[in-house]
Amino acid sequence: MIMEGLKEVAMHEVGHTLGLRHNFVASKMYSLEEMGELDEDEATLASVMDYAPPHIAGPGKKQGKFYTQTIGKYDVWAITYGYKPLSGGTDGEKKELAKIASRSTEHGLAFSTDEDTTSMSPDPDSNRFDFGKDAIEFATNQAAVVKEAMDGLADRVVEDGDDYSRVRQAFNSLLNTHGQAMYFASRYIGGVHVNRTHKGQEDAKAPFEVVDAEKQRAAMKLVSEQVFSDEPFQFSPELYNKLAPSHWNHWGTSFSVRGDFPIHDTISQWQSTILSRLFSSITLERMHDAELKVPADQDAFTTAEMFGTLTDSIFSELDSMDDGEYSNRSPAISSLRRNLQRDYLQRLSTLAMGNGFAPQDCQTIAYAELIDLQEKLEEALDKEVEFDAYTRAHLLESSRRIKKVLDAELTLSRP
Ligand SMILES: [Zn+2]
Repeated sequence: MIMEGLKEVAMHEVGHTLGLRHNFVASKMYSLEEMGELDEDEATLASVMDYAPPHIAGPGKKQGKFYTQTIGKYDVWAITYGYKPLSGGTDGEKKELAKIASRSTEHGLAFSTDEDTTSMSPDPDSNRFDFGKDAIEFATNQAAVVKEAMDGLADRVVEDGDDYSRVRQAFNSLLNTHGQAMYFASRYIGGVHVNRTHKGQEDAKAPFEVVDAEKQRAAMKLVSEQVFSDEPFQFSPELYNKLAPSHWNHWGTSFSVRGDFPIHDTISQWQSTILSRLFSSITLERMHDAELKVPADQDAFTTAEMFGTLTDSIFSELDSMDDGEYSNRSPAISSLRRNLQRDYLQRLSTLAMGNGFAPQDCQTIAYAELIDLQEKLEEALDKEVEFDAYTRAHLLESSRRIKKVLDAELTLSRP
């Protein structure tokens, strides 16, 4: 696997010396299924100029090459453009070059480079370290890979006689793998595909295409199940107690001041990363604009729908706490979910109070969402259920806090 990775990196760097730039959509050439059917000597990427993670087929699937082992279709095309000896003088050369370039709409010849791949960039297909045509398929597969790898982790990664620091390293690495893949999928939400097409090209798409509404909903469902739910983060106390830090302090290592593992912080950091993306003013502005970029008679994923879906997903317990035996050790709302709900509430409140650059329409939607949520919180508190102390305190505090925000928004933030 390491030799395959080295070969890929070597091809990539030689590509740079020949003048090629990064191409971060090259990993989108095939679906994961198509990749499994390629011959061993076929390229898995359209270009070696992408950053690709190792391709791990996942539980029960046929493992091919971990890294692409030869140059791809885009590489051959780009080098042909730059290096093919052409005849016919300047005019003939120009004509020949235009002919080569006109193939850019063909499958596998898409191009998207560094400046197209920033946190502000609209195209969810342009990523460093993603893989496969569909980000939801990739994230679902990565989640399965991580789940399988977490099983018996401490037994597998440490040899007798060694300390436990490799468990912590591997655990963090697996959580990153999971979180990063979910982040890529979340980029469909409010995403806009970018095509570098020129007028008059065959099969040319428009320069911009709003991501299909159903695709955005599928991404919402995925992050709801794999990031906002506490289900994927159920690890055994035995594992937590083996997440020992390394005592080796040197450049390239991260030294743990706290020592024991900060589990709540680590998990909420991943949830927060996704929420930050969904709440960022650029995402909200783009989604709001997209409502005009999709023809009026067609389905579009709106900011109003997103906030409604988020509240339902993040506060789903409010609909299911009618009966049950709760205690501080077995609370109605888990500690991971309480943290997530606080984070969400804080963001919704900031938005409702008009702090930030989000569209005004999103501010008013957030305001209305808070009113509905407070009603539901009060209803939950009125239930004939004996809550654990944590859940009761959380519901009370959340409800009172919303009330303050609603009052403040009307009296303080704007004339
Ligand atoms: Zn590079």
